[in-house]
Amino acid sequence: MKTITILGATGSIGTSTLDLVEREPDRFEVLALTANRDVAGLAAAAIRTRAKLAVVADEACLPELRAALAGTNIGAAGGRSAVVEAARLGADVTMGAIVGCIGLEPVMAAIAGGKTVILANKEPLVSAGDVVLAAAARHKATLLPADSEHNAIFQCFDAARPERVRRIILTCSGGPFRTWTTEAMRSVTPEQAVAHPNWSMGAKISIDSATLFNKGLELIEAARLFPVAHDSIEIVIHPQSVIHSLVDYIDGSVLAQMGPPDMRTPIAHCLAWPDRMATPMAPLDLVAIGRLDFEAPDAERFPAIRLTRAALDAGGARPAILNAANEVAVAAFLDREIGFLEIAAIVEDTLAAYDPAAPESVDEVLAVDAEARSMARRQITVRGGALRGTNVKDIVA
Ligand code: NAD
Ligand code: MG
Repeated sequence: MKTITILGATGSIGTSTLDLVEREPDRFEVLALTANRDVAGLAAAAIRTRAKLAVVADEACLPELRAALAGTNIGAAGGRSAVVEAARLGADVTMGAIVGCIGLEPVMAAIAGGKTVILANKEPLVSAGDVVLAAAARHKATLLPADSEHNAIFQCFDAARPERVRRIILTCSGGPFRTWTTEAMRSVTPEQAVAHPNWSMGAKISIDSATLFNKGLELIEAARLFPVAHDSIEIVIHPQSVIHSLVDYIDGSVLAQMGPPDMRTPIAHCLAWPDRMATPMAPLDLVAIGRLDFEAPDAERFPAIRLTRAALDAGGARPAILNAANEVAVAAFLDREIGFLEIAAIVEDTLAAYDPAAPESVDEVLAVDAEARSMARRQITVRGGALRGTNVKDIVA
């Protein structure tokens, strides 16, 4: 029996994790569940799983959470520091499934417990890779990658012989605009951009998948997690999303991990690791899939590839600035303040305008993150969107 805490329990990854955990009540005991403001979803999950504690990051939602949990013996707490405290309770396994760099402090609190931390939440690794990895080493915490590409690499990578790895190949679906011209992408709506062809995900990562910033963030994530040279990590477009990534060895062997495009497989791999656990997914039907296609990514139409590789190579504060500007730009696009193509433009402008020293602690990363956000917001005002209208909440439940 393992205790588990899920940070971001009401999101796409959070609910997939809960689905697996609830199928194996003899294997997992839920300690804490956290969410931003989805009180109904959080309270329902806490009651179903008999969690010890439910936490809303938005303190204004605490009275509503208390009311929803009245008559149960589930504790309720609110505020960002309460989320961090929940992560500090020392669960055997913590799932980091908050979206954005806002998940950094809770993830660090979980790492300090020296147990297993599953990372779906990629932005903290992008912005604060060295800090996160140093803390994991210091506290002897086990970090497991739930992102499907990194989980695939983890399953194929011979960690005892990293020097025998020639390349890591990250696969990329190409997103909903894989075949679109730049001109056609100029006027895409948030509704079109969140509609991913293969995966059902939260709004932010869906937009990232459409701009290919998701793959760029994953390039940085892969460089953090696996001991290979940056230029040994390649990206290949694979529209079917059946091969989740590959590892190429010096003898010419290429190992791939395949599976249905459902995050429950990589999450299950992490939850049970080093064992395996069953999932409800039907076995992969290769004959029905029929063919697997591959093509080179187009850095002209998708500048995210170029911007993220440059940020990775330059290191220091660059990945944190890129990530912060992207988070702000994605939110502005979802709010119809800017157009789709302006997301990359705002990231590029922010990187050009701000070049601080490399951050070396959580506080320094958060300071760079905050400054990059306000700079990105300034760029958005400059580019001024006339399109203000529906809010993201109307698009994505
Ligand atoms: P989501 O938007 O569906 O869910 C995010 C969760 O974080 C929710 O529970 C929400 O309440 C919580 N949250 C949001 N803002 C918060 C805040 N300020 N403070 C505390 N909690 C907050 O997102 P998702 O798609 O589940 O993605 C979560 C993370 O996992 C992201 O970093 C994403 O890149 C990564 N990821 C997701 C997928 C996927 O298939 N969805 C795949 C790979 C990696
Ligand atoms: Mg991924």
